[in-house]
Amino acid sequence: MSVPRYWREIPRRTRLETVKCSECGTVAYPPRARCGKCGSSNFENYRLPEKGRLVTFTIVRNPPKGFEKMPPYIIGVVRLEDGTIITSQLTDVEPEDVSVGMEVEAAFRKVVEDGDSGIIQYAIKFRPVVK
Ligand SMILES: [Zn+2]
Repeated sequence: MSVPRYWREIPRRTRLETVKCSECGTVAYPPRARCGKCGSSNFENYRLPEKGRLVTFTIVRNPPKGFEKMPPYIIGVVRLEDGTIITSQLTDVEPEDVSVGMEVEAAFRKVVEDGDSGIIQYAIKFRPVVK
């Protein structure tokens, strides 16, 4: 992938951009070919809100094979301000400090850096809103 093309693709990855069904208004995240509710393939661009509340969470203490050295991590289900539910890893918080209903916001974390090409990939995680 050429660098200019990569840079053009960054906004979709780092901002919470996805699609919304033009027929019934269901938000698809991540984007998909057909609406999960009405089956339509007509979509329009949609920007998810960056804030929401934690609906539930799981602390993963037994990472998959190959990741045994990983510390426990937290997978949360977040209800965004527009009602969209997304599943995401939580960051910047210790397992004992996580509670259902806490306010969280999107954070973008560098996940991969390709030394040869300089390509950096980002993933969306959620962290507690600091007041
Ligand atoms: Zn639909």
